[in-house]
Amino acid sequence: MVTANAVKIDDGQLQKPSRPLIRMRAVSKTYVTASSDSVHAVDRVDLDIADGEFVCIVGPSGCGKSTLLRMLAGLDTNDGGRLLLDGRQVTGPSAQVGVVFQAANLLPWLSVRDNVSLPLRVGGRHISSAQRIDELLVMAGLGDFGDRYPYELSGGMQQRAGICRALARDPRILLMDEPFGALDALTRERMNMELQRIWQASGKTVMLITHSISESIFLADRVVVMSARPGRVLKELTVPIPRPRSFDTIVSNPAYATLASEIRGLLNAEGEIE
Ligand code: ADP
Repeated sequence: MVTANAVKIDDGQLQKPSRPLIRMRAVSKTYVTASSDSVHAVDRVDLDIADGEFVCIVGPSGCGKSTLLRMLAGLDTNDGGRLLLDGRQVTGPSAQVGVVFQAANLLPWLSVRDNVSLPLRVGGRHISSAQRIDELLVMAGLGDFGDRYPYELSGGMQQRAGICRALARDPRILLMDEPFGALDALTRERMNMELQRIWQASGKTVMLITHSISESIFLADRVVVMSARPGRVLKELTVPIPRPRSFDTIVSNPAYATLASEIRGLLNAEGEIE
C-alpha cells in the first residue's frame, strides 16, 4: 500500500518518512494502587510508527500493552518520556485517533447506523454525514445491516460495527486492543481478512495489540515484541510477506515460520506461551 508519506521501494518494504505519525520516546508509566503499592507497567518504550503502517504489539499478559495504547489514545497519562502524534504531544483524546476494544460495546437501543454515527453526534456537534456512514458500513460488509439492532448481529459483525464507529470521525490512526480476542478461531480469521481489507481501503495507520502470534504476522507490516512487566520493546520484526495475505497461503511462506518461531522464542523466554 502506498500512502501520502510512506513510499514503497523495490523490495516491497515501506521506506519510513522522516517524521513518523506516531513517536514514542522513553515512555514510562508507574501506577500507584489504592493500597499505595507501585506497579511499574511500562519502561522507557521507544517506538515509531509510520503513516499508513500496520504495527502489531505482542507481549506477556500484564506487560503494559494496554497502558501504552491508552496513553497514546489520551485516556491515560505517561509519567516519563514523550508521546507524539504527528509531531504534537498527546494531551488527551483526539479526533485523529479511533479506538477499538475487545468488546464492541454497541448501545443496544440504537440501530447499527446510529451506533456507528454516535461519535459524530456527541459533544453537541452534529455533522451531516449519512453518506459517509453508509460508505463505512458497506466497506465493512454491513451495508444491509444499518437498520438492524446489535442483538441481531453476530459477534464478528458487532466488532466490525465497532471498527466502523472508530472510523466515523475519519481518524488518521486506529488503536486496537485485542479486538478479536473474544471471537472463535474461524470468525477471528475472517475478521483478520476483513480488517486487512478495511485497512488497505482506508489507508489508516493501525496499532493493534494481540496475544496471537499468527494474527500478528498475518496483519502487521511490523511486529513489536514486548518484555514481561515492566514492558519495554524487546524486538521489532518486519513482516516481508506480500499483500493481500490469506491464511491459506501465509502459513506456507517460509518467512511465516521463521517469524513465528522467533516471536514464540522471545515470548517463551519472557514466560509467555501463545
Ligand atoms: P497488558 O495490556 O499488557 O496485559 P496492562 O497495560 O493492562 O497490561 O497492565 C500493565 C500492568 O499495570 C499490570 O500489572 C496491571 O495490573 C497494572 N495496571 C493496569 N492498570 C492499572 C491501574 N489503573 N491501576 C493499577 N495498576 C494497573
